[in-house]
Amino acid sequence: MNLEGKTCGVCNKGKLRAFQDEVVPGVYVDAFKCSEYGHVSYSKEVMKHVENLYKQSSEERHIVKVGSSIAVPIPAAIVRLLNLRASEKVFITTQDNKIIIKPSPA
Ligand SMILES: [Zn+2]
Repeated sequence: MNLEGKTCGVCNKGKLRAFQDEVVPGVYVDAFKCSEYGHVSYSKEVMKHVENLYKQSSEERHIVKVGSSIAVPIPAAIVRLLNLRASEKVFITTQDNKIIIKPSPA
């Protein structure tokens, strides 16, 4: 399925352009990027493939409520890998409809 030139389904403003999206490190798939806001779309076939890749390379977590905020427990494997500690500061941002959490430089 080719979405090239179609209107972005997220904002209904941008036009979709084909590009290669790196869904997990080193793995690229055919994807389409919104010309206005950078929303990323996949065809249905690629979407299935991407969901399978995510299941293999990530752990599912439920969002929990903490006061008026919400929180997501970070899997122990990632805590060890990045040497994270409770109450350590992190920077949270978004990119391409994803949440990016960066540990503070030591
Ligand atoms: Zn868009």
